[in-house]
Order: sequence, then structure tokens, then C-alpha cells
Amino acid sequence: MAAITTDTEILDRLKERGLRMTPQRRAIVAEIMRSKGHISPADITHRVQSQMPGVNASTVYRTLTLLEDVGILSHAHLEDGPEYHRSEEAEHVHLICAHCGRDDALTDDAADTLTTFIRTQRGFEPDLTHFAISGLCARCQSKSTRSPA
Ligand SMILES: [Zn+2]
Ligand SMILES: [Zn+2]
Ligand SMILES: [Zn+2]
Repeated sequence: MAAITTDTEILDRLKERGLRMTPQRRAIVAEIMRSKGHISPADITHRVQSQMPGVNASTVYRTLTLLEDVGILSHAHLEDGPEYHRSEEAEHVHLICAHCGRDDALTDDAADTLTTFIRTQRGFEPDLTHFAISGLCARCQSKSTRSPA
């Protein structure tokens, strides 16, 4: 499936699903399309509300779910709860620092190695992109192991 890149294509996709395109939903879709990288439901809500006071959070959350249903977004569980990616940008394994929130990702090679390892060990096919791996980043480790002066 070709990547969907314009607001119009997205709105068409939602219309095919019989969804009424309210001005609110248009504003939410436009804001999502402007977002790069991780799309936090709370951030989208704040940004949409700053342009259109009165849009409630549940409308934003429902729109995100719909966009996932039609294949435009997918979610991953990060340190602060679920966030969304454009589907074509979602294939990465998150490494999230539980201390400072720094967000890193495994290289594709490392993710493949880990997937193969789990499959070989347990006959289990992991979806490593769905949940972040939580831990401590290099910087926070060096802070916590530094001996007091
Ligand atoms: Zn990500
Ligand atoms: Zn999930
Ligand atoms: Zn850290």
C-alpha cells in the first residue's frame, strides 16, 4: 500500500469509512499531518485546542484511533503511555530512559538479531516495535554510578 501523504488523501480515506468530516476533525487531521516523529495524543490535543477551543480530548483520541484503523497511524507504548507514528515510520524498537525520558532506537540489524534470538529460543515471534524497552541511557548510568566527590 502506498504511503498516504496528504490531508486530502486521509480525509478521503475517512470519508470512504462513512465518517462525517467536521471542521474539528479536519483541524485534528491537519495537526497530525504537521507532526513529525512521535505523535503524542496530549500534544495534539493541546495544539488543536489552541487553534480551536472547545475541541475535547476524546474527539482527538477517537480520531487517532480511526486513523490507526484505516492504516495511517500505528501506536507504540512508550514511557508516558501510547504514542502514534505514521505507519511508514513505525518499524523501530524504542529504547526509552526511565530516568530522563531520552528516546533512542535499536538499529534495524540489532532488532533483527534480537527477533531471531527470541524466535530461536522460544519459537515466539516478537513484535518489538509495539512496546518500548525501558532502562537507563548511557548518560544516566554514568550519573548514577559516579562516586560522590
Ligand atoms: Zn518511535
Ligand atoms: Zn498497543
Ligand atoms: Zn537518561
